[in-house]
Amino acid sequence: MLEMIKNEIVNAFLFDGDFIYAEPFGCGHINATYAVYFRRETKPPVRYILQAVNTTIFTDPQGLIENIQGVTSHLRKKILEQGGDPQRETLTLIPTRDGKLLYEDSEGRFWRSYHFIENATCHQSVDRPVLFTNAAKAFGHFQKLLADYPADTLHETIAGFHNTVDRYALFEKAVAEDKAGRAALVEKEIQFFLDRKADGTVVVDAIAKGQLPLRVTHNDTKLNNIMMDNETDEGICVIDLDTVMPGSVLYDFGDSIRFGASTADEDEQDLSLVSMDLELFEAYTAGFLSEAGSSLTAEEIRLLPFSAKLLTLECGMRFLTDYLNGDTYFRIHREHHNLDRCRTQMKLVADMEHKMEDMHKIVEKYV
Ligand code: ADP
Ligand code: MG
Ligand code: MG
Repeated sequence: MLEMIKNEIVNAFLFDGDFIYAEPFGCGHINATYAVYFRRETKPPVRYILQAVNTTIFTDPQGLIENIQGVTSHLRKKILEQGGDPQRETLTLIPTRDGKLLYEDSEGRFWRSYHFIENATCHQSVDRPVLFTNAAKAFGHFQKLLADYPADTLHETIAGFHNTVDRYALFEKAVAEDKAGRAALVEKEIQFFLDRKADGTVVVDAIAKGQLPLRVTHNDTKLNNIMMDNETDEGICVIDLDTVMPGSVLYDFGDSIRFGASTADEDEQDLSLVSMDLELFEAYTAGFLSEAGSSLTAEEIRLLPFSAKLLTLECGMRFLTDYLNGDTYFRIHREHHNLDRCRTQMKLVADMEHKMEDMHKIVEKYV
C-alpha cells in the first residue's frame, strides 16, 4: 500500500471540483499510480489519474514529459482531423496551476496527471485471442498516426535501450569478467549468443545508414498498456508513454511477438512447453499490418519476422548477462532464475529460426 496523497500535490494541478479522496489504482509496476476523485456543484463527480514518475528508472523526468507532450499533441491533432474523441483515444495531460506538466513535491518526487479514460479496461492477460489482435491494431494505429512525427526530436529516456551492438558488447564484457564465477556453467548458452552476433548489427546498422527510418517507438507494448473498450473490446488508447523513444518500428513489433506469441511463461523451466505459436504470430501480424501496413517501408516489412527473433535474442542475452554479473539488474525469485529466463528465450529463438519461412508467408498474406 502506498502512502497518502498530500494536499500539496492535489492542489498543484488544475483539477475541476473539490477533492474527495485518492486511491492506489491499476496494476502498473513502474510508477506509483492513483485515481483522485472530485465532487462538482452542477456536474457529476470526476476522477483523474495521478502518477509519481519512477525516477530511479527515468532519470530525466523533464525529457520524459516533453516526449509525452509532443507525442500526445500530435495524436490529438490527428484524432481531431479524423473526427475522433482525443480525450478517449490518447492520453491528455492535466497541467499544474502554474502551467507546467510536472509537479515537483517538497520531497523531490515528480508528479503528473492525466484525464481518466472511463469505460475501458487494461487487461492483464490474453484470455481471449481477440484481445491480442486488438492490441496489435491499437499499436499499429499508434504507429500509423505517428508515422510523420519527427522522431529525432524525442529524448532517449533510457539510453541505448535496443542497441543490440552495445548489448553484445556488455554481454561479452560480462563473459570476460565472469564476476559471479558462472561462465563455466553456461558455455553452451554463451556460445548460442556468440553464434548469432551478426544478427545484432542488422537493425542498428540499417538505421545508421538510413535504410530503416527512425520512428517513434513505444517500447513497452504489453497488453496492459492499452485501454480497451468495456463493451466492444476494441483497443481505444495506447497508454504508458514513458518509454517512447526514437527507434525502429521493428523493436515494438518484435518485442510484442517475443512475449505475446510464446506458448509459455518467460521463466518456464520445462522447455518442452516453450515455442512460438504461429497462430498467435498471425493474429498479431494481421492486426498490426491492417493499421500500420501502409505506412511501413518495404525493408521494414521484410524484417518483421527477423525482428521477432532479434528482440528475443536481445532479451535472452540480457538475462544471461545479468546471470553472469550475479543477478544485479532483474529481480530474481529463485536461484538460476535468470538462467531459466535466458533458456526460454533461446528456445524461442531456435523455434523462430525453424519457422522463419512460415512467418514470412504470413507477413506476405497481410501486406
Ligand atoms: P506503469 O508504467 O507503472 O505500468 P501506467 O502508465 O501503465 O504505469 O499506469 C498504470 C495503470 O494505471 C494502467 O495499467 C491503467 O490501469 C491505469 N491508467 C493509467 N493511465 C490511465 C488513464 N489515463 N485512464 C485510466 N486508467 C489509467
Ligand atoms: Mg503500464
Ligand atoms: Mg510503464
